[in-house]
Amino acid sequence: MIPETLVLWDIDRTLVWNGGAGERALVTAAEEICNEKLDLSKIPYSGRTDRWIAKAIIEFFGQEADQEKQIAFQNSYLDNLEKEMPNSNAYILGGVKEVLDTLAQDEKICQALLTGNLVRGAKLKLDQLGLWSYFDFGGFADASPNRNDLSAHALALAEERFNKKFDLERVFVIGDTPYDIECGKVIGAQAIAVATGCHSMEVLAEHKPHFLLESLQDTKRFLKIVS
Ligand SMILES: [Mg+2]
Repeated sequence: MIPETLVLWDIDRTLVWNGGAGERALVTAAEEICNEKLDLSKIPYSGRTDRWIAKAIIEFFGQEADQEKQIAFQNSYLDNLEKEMPNSNAYILGGVKEVLDTLAQDEKICQALLTGNLVRGAKLKLDQLGLWSYFDFGGFADASPNRNDLSAHALALAEERFNKKFDLERVFVIGDTPYDIECGKVIGAQAIAVATGCHSMEVLAEHKPHFLLESLQDTKRFLKIVS
């Protein structure tokens, strides 16, 4: 059946908490590639893409972020993430499993990813928690360092896959940061913000998402919005 609804999911702090594995992998990559001790609180990385973050960290240390160095940083990050994930206290956020399972049973709904993660990092984070198989495709940082490009990319992949245009009233972008809200809005989709990340309900409200939830534990309300 061709789906009527497209649900595009952010990963970190929307679906899962990676137990700090991502942060530790960035710090180790900075040591390996930049030869510097990284204080991540100096980098406003939340909601950004892995490619944006790699470049920002290299430039933070006053080093030249040429293509080669950026790729070396990304690869170091991914290798370290692979080492960190099995030892992390990663977990699935409340309500997520129930929501994913319910939507997976509805043939009229397609679930995909829309995330600042590189595809390899996304798989590492979700595979360990048994969530990777819920999603057939996604917009990942591999396609662009700019999060706002990734929503159009994910939508284009969906339209190609199902050979149809989606009604944008039926396209939902779910995430925990103002950047998720923005990247949903740039394609005219419905932005659903969840306050399970670093941003409070008040801060998220200022960015005017179409819907705002404390968390996905309010499964009833969430399912009503997208169903
Ligand atoms: Mg997030």
